[in-house]
Amino acid sequence: RSSAVPVDSILTKLKHECATPLPVLRRVADAMAADMRAGLAVDGGSDLKMILSYVDSLPTGNEKGLFYALDLGGTNFRVLRVQLGGKEERVIDTEFEQVSIPQDLMFGTSEELFDFIASRLATFAQKEGGKFHLPPGRKKEIGFTFSFPVRQTSIDSGILIKWTKGFAVSGTAGRDVVACLNDAMERQGLDMRVSALVNDTVGTLAGARYWDDDVMVAVILGTGTNACYIERKDSIPKLQGHVSASGRTIINTEWGAFSNGLPLTVFDREMDAASINPGEQIFEKTISGMYLGEIVRRVLLKMAEDGALFGSSIPEKLSMPFVLRTPDLSAMQQDNSDDLQAVGSVLYDIAGVESNLNARKIVVEVCDTIAKRGGRLAGAGIVGILQKMEEDSKGLIFGKRTVVAMDGGLYERYPQYRRYLKDAVTELLGLEMSKNVVIEHSKDGSGIGAALLAAANSKYE
Ligand code: ADP
Repeated sequence: RSSAVPVDSILTKLKHECATPLPVLRRVADAMAADMRAGLAVDGGSDLKMILSYVDSLPTGNEKGLFYALDLGGTNFRVLRVQLGGKEERVIDTEFEQVSIPQDLMFGTSEELFDFIASRLATFAQKEGGKFHLPPGRKKEIGFTFSFPVRQTSIDSGILIKWTKGFAVSGTAGRDVVACLNDAMERQGLDMRVSALVNDTVGTLAGARYWDDDVMVAVILGTGTNACYIERKDSIPKLQGHVSASGRTIINTEWGAFSNGLPLTVFDREMDAASINPGEQIFEKTISGMYLGEIVRRVLLKMAEDGALFGSSIPEKLSMPFVLRTPDLSAMQQDNSDDLQAVGSVLYDIAGVESNLNARKIVVEVCDTIAKRGGRLAGAGIVGILQKMEEDSKGLIFGKRTVVAMDGGLYERYPQYRRYLKDAVTELLGLEMSKNVVIEHSKDGSGIGAALLAAANSKYE
């Protein structure tokens, strides 16, 4: 096979189209701020849904007592209890358990699924002892993290719009998921109640805020991505005096749906067209862990087909969607050896190809190009959120210390991506202003965060 298009020219074009110089970052940050405003004005006003969380009371550190959290967001659910001791003692003790959801329940009825969850919660609650205790006459209160699309109607109710992530449970869509859980707990004879229904991003913000009053934004960069932040109610026109427009609340941006001003390539467009949700979640498809590996795979396949990157034959496995995963990109970028031994191993194990040093170098450059674009655009998105907040409250964001709490496997385990994200924030804000913005990893804050929100919204306070 002759190389009709030299690999170098494919790489040069890719780098050019993925480039995120300062003007591009600025355009993205400005568009993010503008889309946020449009989504706050009216429902459906923007790509960004800007969902009201109904979380108006944030954890202060004074919370006391025993609280539970239940986290359902994928094929596992987690239950957790925490004994809170107020400002001085803080978190006295926590315990948690993880339970995997049997495959057949993901295709069963709503009652079956919630009965299973309630029965496991009952088993966990029975093992309470030691440092955990509830004042007499109180029901145990739960913060329920439910990471599926919900139309929230109050802090403790929300209608499931649709199941995602492989769940096909019948009879839940259109119903209040808190009522579903409460009913199941009643059927199990379990005397607990849900005090707060929260999105995982909101849980992360609450969990980080408990330790640090300067936390204003939370961002998740894992398989998917989302961000939330603390907003002034008088900056939310769509509230329309619905609630007294004073004080603050958390807004769940659902920023994965953002799409304005992004530098995209033919590889992005083809991946999107082949996806289960074409035209949707474009920001998520450009910056999150589910997709970075797949974009790189598509580039490498093109280089193999048109430029003979791996010699005269095209490795068959490289044609399989999603064989190359984002953790593979990260692993290849950590290879500092002269002969790029680890890169060679990943390529051999994943795609079944023998590669020479030159091919390995190109593969690393492709990984870097896609991770760099993703990290820098995520950074621009964060600056967009901060910028919007600063416009409405001059000096209260950039004029003082402001913390952005980060979580998710991509942020946590891809050092180059993390570096690019932080560099973009610094470039956009300038050295002086960026000193006030602290981007901080908040590991697994969302579980405790949900329990803290149950405490902050307790029926007994
Ligand atoms: P969730 O699936 O709920 O988002 P995590 O926050 O743990 O869970 O994120 C897992 C995702 O993080 C994976 O799907 C993957 O895309 C990404 N990831 C995990 N490990 C790595 C790694 N070593 N390097 C880069 N990305 C990683």
